[in-house]
Amino acid sequence: MKSGKCPMCNSNEVYSNSESEFRASGDIVQLSDIDNELQIYLIPYICTNCGFAAMFVADMDDVKDLPETDGWKKVK
Ligand SMILES: [Zn+2]
Repeated sequence: MKSGKCPMCNSNEVYSNSESEFRASGDIVQLSDIDNELQIYLIPYICTNCGFAAMFVADMDDVKDLPETDGWKKVK
């Protein structure tokens, strides 16, 4: 998806806008559990061919500690 190719339909019509209104209106994933105060900004990627949409973390530093963070389990 980030390379510009949709993983669902293989179209190259993938668009992203890191400064989109969506971001401005608060696309923060805020986990309010007591142990973890995580704030992760997400950037939307949308395929205009099939409509598939994906979110990617804006700053990978925000998720570097996720494997050691309570409640986050590796998907198997
Ligand atoms: Zn697509």
